[in-house]
Amino acid sequence: MPNSPNSTTVLSTNKPLRVVDIVEGTSVDGPGLRTSVYFAGCEHHCPGCHNPTTWPHDAGHDMTIDEIVKVVDYNNFDVTFSGGDPMYQAEALLPLARKLKLDGRNIWCYTGFTFEELKAHPEMCRLLDYIDVLVDGPFIESRRNTGLLFRGSDNQRLIDVRRTKENGKISLWKREVTDKTTDKI
Ligand code: SF4
Repeated sequence: MPNSPNSTTVLSTNKPLRVVDIVEGTSVDGPGLRTSVYFAGCEHHCPGCHNPTTWPHDAGHDMTIDEIVKVVDYNNFDVTFSGGDPMYQAEALLPLARKLKLDGRNIWCYTGFTFEELKAHPEMCRLLDYIDVLVDGPFIESRRNTGLLFRGSDNQRLIDVRRTKENGKISLWKREVTDKTTDKI
């Protein structure tokens, strides 16, 4: 199964990271202005995917963790990992996520795996320790809904990772009460 977390291509242990693009100041990949890092590699191949050029694991270019952190620090935004599916580089991403968290960044991560599927893989689970919100699951064209906040189809969930671990069950992210938006989540 190509998108199994146990696939031999799931993890890259080689540094640096493979990055397709970095977008600074985006407001579509999580709350507030964020720096979104689009990592190469995705085997989910969802029909209707907006970023098929990110599917090859060798798409984009190499970046060291220091180079990525330098871009993030420049605008001082919080961070979103997207792609592609960042989980295919989970092991290599760990030190980056750790560094960004030490710097006080809020981190969102998009993945085509479900939260439950990620739990079967140790490195992906370890990466979750540094993720605030996980947007999980593949994009399903028949469930596409342009009215949803920060995701494309209604099977995808905005999971508050810390609360989910504390509660022992999936707990969805909610906007801060000070935020007046009425967007549907
Ligand atoms: S998981 Fe995301 S990047 Fe991968 S094919 Fe699906 S929509 Fe595209």
